[in-house]
Amino acid sequence: VGPEQQVVDRMRQHLPPHILDLFEDVGRLADGNSVQVYVVGGFVRDLLLGVNNLDIDLVVEGDGIRFAAELARFLKGTLRTHEKFGTAVIRWGDQKIDVATARREFYQYPAALPQVEASDLRQDLYRRDFTINALAIRLNRERFGELVDFFQGVKDLEQGLVRVLYNLSFVEDPTRILRAIRFEQRYRFTIEPQTMGFAREAIARHMIRELSYERMVDELILILSEENPAPALRRLTELGLWEYLLPGLAWTPWVEVEVSAAPPMLKALAEAGLPISRRPWVVYFYILARHLSMEGVRFVNDHYPMKQVMRDGLFKLHKEGKDTNQALMNWLRADNPLSRLESILRDWPEEAILALRAGFSLPDTLRLFEAWRRIRETHPRLTGNDLKALKIPPGPIYARILNRLRLERLDGRLADAGAERDFVRHLLRGEAPALETKGGKHV
Ligand code: ATP
Repeated sequence: VGPEQQVVDRMRQHLPPHILDLFEDVGRLADGNSVQVYVVGGFVRDLLLGVNNLDIDLVVEGDGIRFAAELARFLKGTLRTHEKFGTAVIRWGDQKIDVATARREFYQYPAALPQVEASDLRQDLYRRDFTINALAIRLNRERFGELVDFFQGVKDLEQGLVRVLYNLSFVEDPTRILRAIRFEQRYRFTIEPQTMGFAREAIARHMIRELSYERMVDELILILSEENPAPALRRLTELGLWEYLLPGLAWTPWVEVEVSAAPPMLKALAEAGLPISRRPWVVYFYILARHLSMEGVRFVNDHYPMKQVMRDGLFKLHKEGKDTNQALMNWLRADNPLSRLESILRDWPEEAILALRAGFSLPDTLRLFEAWRRIRETHPRLTGNDLKALKIPPGPIYARILNRLRLERLDGRLADAGAERDFVRHLLRGEAPALETKGGKHV
């Protein structure tokens, strides 16, 4: 069996049939347009590792945009092009296909002549981050499935090594240091010793500082989006990278315990039908932020691009985290009413609640979030229209009354709409305990 056949067999084994069909169509279209087309990067790496990955990156030797337009038309997909970069994105159902024109901006010397055959592809792959990400599979009909491995990526995959393609790789793009750590930990590989040397050199030269905070955050988010980010975060510590990413963060064994406890916690919550967030990285970010000094929080707030809710969450964790944590402990121990829990958690983003739970056991966490769900799902039976019917003049008082009804209902009082109506009447006559405002003050 030739090497091409081996790759084709592997694709048959690991890929859904419609993707294999897609690749054959791509090859046919490529032939018709007299261009060479390859699938490259993480897709190939993961195919060889037997890991699921359907992020398809195509590289075209020739006019990538024209080819992408042709492919989009053939697939009846939608096309978005970036003329300046020679790239395009096709959406085909829920499949995304990235198409790029092979780039050759990195000549080895200024007047280098393009080499014969596959030279564009070689240049394109050469500017990539690691040998394991610089593999390609040819899709043209002639030699369909040919594995293109200019830089011994297959050998590094077999040996479990993350290796850069050239010495100045990290200087040129310091995000690659974070990417190296991410791939190393995800696949339990090792950063190849010489590569590690280059990384340390780039770090010693403070190259990370050259990055924009946007790019830094993007890479940090990618690390925090890994299934279990703890080992990669430990590696960031070993390399002295927190100084750039989250200044003032001390990666203590306690932080590590908390971060490591989160994945099973998230899993258990999801299994109990209480999924926390579609973005687990936010939980990790809050956990880390809890261990920052106030200065560190300010730094993050000043430099990191973030949504306002997250900024609020960070400051809240700092100012009120300890007290809230204690209040939750008390609530769990004393089995307090749901209305009490509502008042503790009211203004907390959900992900931050999970980051708060230092010291809670798994059953306690499940109990807490079960209660939280009930709180969110409980509404008063009366509506604004009912209040109108009671001749209450509309105004901010409506929200307060409805919230109060909700709290009463949470604690199992007011069995039906009639009871709620009576309660409202009492309330307005000043015969029930006063209404709470949003800030928790009584009016
Ligand atoms: P993941 O499985 O995390 O998505 P991936 O390898 O697919 O990993 P992407 O960020 O989607 O990662 O990048 C796709 C490809 O683009 C990579 O495989 C790599 O070849 C190249 N690449 C991405 N970022 C860089 C970079 N900073 N420098 C050089 N090449 C990069």
